[in-house]
Amino acid sequence: MEYLFDQWGQVKRKLNNKHIVFFFDYDGTLTPIAETPQQAVIPRQVKELLRKLSRKPNCALAIISGRALEDIKDLVRLKGIIYAGNHGLEIEGPKIKFESQVSPRLKSVIRNIYEDMVNKLSKIKGVLIEDKGLAIGVHYRLVDATDIQEFLNIFSEITESFTVRDKIKINEGKKVYEIRPPVAWDKGKTVLWLLARQQFLVGEDKIFPIYFGDDITDEDGFRALKNKGLTIFVGEPKASEAAYYVRNTEEITQFIKKVLELE
Ligand SMILES: [Mg+2]
Repeated sequence: MEYLFDQWGQVKRKLNNKHIVFFFDYDGTLTPIAETPQQAVIPRQVKELLRKLSRKPNCALAIISGRALEDIKDLVRLKGIIYAGNHGLEIEGPKIKFESQVSPRLKSVIRNIYEDMVNKLSKIKGVLIEDKGLAIGVHYRLVDATDIQEFLNIFSEITESFTVRDKIKINEGKKVYEIRPPVAWDKGKTVLWLLARQQFLVGEDKIFPIYFGDDITDEDGFRALKNKGLTIFVGEPKASEAAYYVRNTEEITQFIKKVLELE
């Protein structure tokens, strides 16, 4: 993994004359990680730069998040860009509207688990249960260390019988578990699906994707774009499928500014 700005000369050449498709994760990428999901607000300067990027000819912009589609749209509020919610289970953008096929049976499994979580986990201080429609986010960043074991016990009690029967899938993120339907669809597949559409519009050899992400689910995005574009991990360098890293959101803004200056 190399520091992105050490390789700027090389990166710049790759971008030359391309139609750049930006993929940004939201939490921990466009915003610093916050104590609760509600507190993760996109800094005004970042938003302004994204707006400029979305208006630049030969650039397209997609936000690809684990949050529900409506939630992520509401947080970013930029027009003319692509939003992928629930890790791509629901996508909306200019001339795009997609919802992954999830059977009513699997949807009701998610509903039942949600109610169970609310009932049985509410006694543990600090647990935040996020209803994301097609999925559930269970945040435990604010749970006391002394309560973690009990939290984990109840959590697995509720989910175990569903995971062994493949009725749900559990993703682990930064102090959050995500319960979702067991469909073979992730950020990587979403990215490739969106790229295929763009390629159709502007030609395959013109397209150049850039993916920024900070968490485990972003590794699918990095993997999908191996040797296809720029993959950039956000945070201190570690083992990752990404080829490059930047340290934080601030450095992403520096990168965007450099791209905006390009012809
Ligand atoms: Mg993230």
